[in-house]
Amino acid sequence: MAAIYQRARPRRFDQIVGQSHVTEILLAAISQQKIGHAYLFSGPRGVGKTTTARLLAMALNCQRTSAEERPCGSCESCELVQRGSHPDVIELDAASNNSVEDVRDLREKVTLAPLRGESRVWILDEAHMLSRAASNALLKTLEEPPPKLVFILATTEPEKLPATILSRCQHFRFRRLTDAEIRSKLEGLCRQAEIEASTPALDLVAKVADGAMRDAESLLERLFTSGKSITLDAAEEALGLPPQERLRQLAEALVAGELSTLFDLANSFYQQGYAPRSIAEKLSLTLRDALVNQVSKTGDGFTLAIEAIDLQRLIHALDDDQERFTKRDDLFSLEVTLIKALNTLTGQLPQYYPGETVGESAERNRPATPEPTLPSLATEKPPEVAKQIPTAKTIEPPASKLNWHTVKSKANPQLKAFLMPAQESIQDFQVTLRYSETHKFHFAELKKRHDELVELIQQVAGQRYSLLIEGPGETLRKKS
Ligand SMILES: [Zn+2]
Repeated sequence: MAAIYQRARPRRFDQIVGQSHVTEILLAAISQQKIGHAYLFSGPRGVGKTTTARLLAMALNCQRTSAEERPCGSCESCELVQRGSHPDVIELDAASNNSVEDVRDLREKVTLAPLRGESRVWILDEAHMLSRAASNALLKTLEEPPPKLVFILATTEPEKLPATILSRCQHFRFRRLTDAEIRSKLEGLCRQAEIEASTPALDLVAKVADGAMRDAESLLERLFTSGKSITLDAAEEALGLPPQERLRQLAEALVAGELSTLFDLANSFYQQGYAPRSIAEKLSLTLRDALVNQVSKTGDGFTLAIEAIDLQRLIHALDDDQERFTKRDDLFSLEVTLIKALNTLTGQLPQYYPGETVGESAERNRPATPEPTLPSLATEKPPEVAKQIPTAKTIEPPASKLNWHTVKSKANPQLKAFLMPAQESIQDFQVTLRYSETHKFHFAELKKRHDELVELIQQVAGQRYSLLIEGPGETLRKKS
């Protein structure tokens, strides 16, 4: 039995998914009999470029006389194109037809009249791989196109084509397909094959295919061999992916700060043979899904009990740590990555710990300023958080570490706006802010919020600083 992607190959333009911005223009050109000499189809792999090129070749040679019916997809000529054996439709892979002989061959052959049909169609795949000599030969042909000859160049990298060629082609950009578009086509294929597949399983296939229908179809082919019904579990198993359910448990444990569950899950993934790198990456994707669901209220409803900003921080931390796995892809690396992500969340990155306890790479990844902390956690319960890490004897930074820039960067937008015009000076554990007459409004507003500022200073530098705010005709002193 032919592969799915061959059986599922569109025979008419309306069967092409997701590229109507291209097919509508081509259909209009066919019905008005205004076909160009050269087309460039660019876009990611597997989204229908070659298929569309073949349909255009079929339309130009179809035996139906009515332009509206072309290509019919079923006449002898259409069948021949479909099977790749039409004498006037030549498909070349530019990457492997680059020799001098190939080029000579091309220049001779393009002058030939159609053997069977109405038009000769050359489909050049991977057109950006054409050698210089081949490009030049092609250019000559494009400059003085023989009658009844159509070139269709397909490429994933149009920017690599010479401008001289680009300027002579009508350029169509093919887009990546959405998960929903892919899923909907896969559903149709499952119905045809009388195989039941769950929506999450097909969603997974669509996601893995990353916008490429051809990949999605061949993945589905692999799943078809596994039985009459395709569940999410079966799909994960067949595609060798870690189970989503357990990845979600891992994400939940991370968000809840359950270190022992994190270790258990990491260990069980590792024992089952999943690469730690891939677990870290998939965990990131799981967090990403939760973030998307949370901010756009779409998707399957999976969310995590955490603010969106903290999800972003976690994703950031995991991403920063990906490089670790190029050195060691083992369980320990995964555990360290999880611990670092967890610390990002609690706002207790050990930046004041002795360097030797975290190692060199952690040293390098350490932010220059304290990691932005979860405001609610940091302001409500810094002492508890500190207690969770017994080695953190001196969570408070040295006095010299109070960086005013850090304080401002951590302030919420309103507070920051009122802090901006102040002139600050820091001396002997005292922060002084001075407001001039022109900024008395800012001064007045800051007075109302001085508690907030004191908390912020404590957060950055501990409790040793006092705050002095001087404005027109008034001075306010606060002990931190
Ligand atoms: Zn036909």
